[in-house]
Amino acid sequence: MASLALDLLPEHYVEFSEQELDARIARAKAALGSRLVILGHHYQRDEVVKFADFRGDSLKLSQLAASRREAEFIVFCGVHFMAESADILSADHQVVILPDLNAGCSMADMANLEQVEVCWEELAGCTDARIVPITYINSTAAIKAFVGRNGGAVCTSSNARKVMEWALARGDKGLFLPDEHLGRNTAYRMGIPLEEMAVWDPQEERGGLREEEIRQARIFLWKGHCSVHQRFLPEHVARVRAKYPGVRVVVHPECKWEVCQLADEVGSTEYILKRVTEAPPGSQWAVGTEIHMIRRLAQEHADRLVVTLDDCVCLCSTMYRISPQHLCWTLESLVAGQVVNRVSVDPETKRWARVALDRMLEIT
Ligand code: SF4
Repeated sequence: MASLALDLLPEHYVEFSEQELDARIARAKAALGSRLVILGHHYQRDEVVKFADFRGDSLKLSQLAASRREAEFIVFCGVHFMAESADILSADHQVVILPDLNAGCSMADMANLEQVEVCWEELAGCTDARIVPITYINSTAAIKAFVGRNGGAVCTSSNARKVMEWALARGDKGLFLPDEHLGRNTAYRMGIPLEEMAVWDPQEERGGLREEEIRQARIFLWKGHCSVHQRFLPEHVARVRAKYPGVRVVVHPECKWEVCQLADEVGSTEYILKRVTEAPPGSQWAVGTEIHMIRRLAQEHADRLVVTLDDCVCLCSTMYRISPQHLCWTLESLVAGQVVNRVSVDPETKRWARVALDRMLEIT
């Protein structure tokens, strides 16, 4: 089977109607049968996620991919780092495909290997303390491999606290990549005061920190964020509480610390899903996360109120790039014997990233 590096959608796919696309996707999916598994992230749009064999967050989907050894093709309807994680965890005979290679993650792209290596050297030049790196799963394979090589571990938004506790038990300080907010929210919940956290800005000389600040900090927070979750603000919490008295506010820990402090509950995508799904009829929820997931929750649980924390649409614009046209093209190419938009992590990066992922699984 040819492996082509095409990433441009053939023009005629944009001319198909919605019905034609649905029929073509269903036909290609049926033709591929058990050779194919389609994974859909919770933030994915409806027209795409309806074809997913499994829905979940990034880790759950990668683990599912790894457990479906009979599937030769894993089509990941998510973003680039998720497809990389699936490739790291899947078997050698499996091929991971991201229907549009331009579907990146703005947060993962905020920490590149060169910048992190500079940070690591500069920190070592300022302190003899043992620093343990931690990377959120929303990071590139190269960053996961860096963390693996340097004695650290990956974390998710569900297990960030356990991983941070592990890191601080092994070392004197932690370096948390690439989400400043998840790092701060996690450390604060562990009882670390804000004054003992220092933000490392890769655009600034020595991260924008004084040597004294580096020596005093317990946690270094990489200056990165999710463009979706960072948009939620304290005034949105106040507004929604005024509009819906008695509403429970639940937000993702990628939201700012100030927002998390005001929320009733803070938890991962899967946590939010579980809370709203298991809530009694008549309950009211204001949710601070990606809009596609909120809308689906509202539709699937019409007997309770589920609204977004902010009325301005907060969608993950990069994930939105995975269109039905791209899914259709990807699947029809497979039926025709061509692999398009494969995501493949090089063996050395894979090996060390796997070390960091395995450490997380051992810790949690
Ligand atoms: S929601 Fe945020 S962190 Fe998640 S994929 Fe989109 S940009 Fe990345």
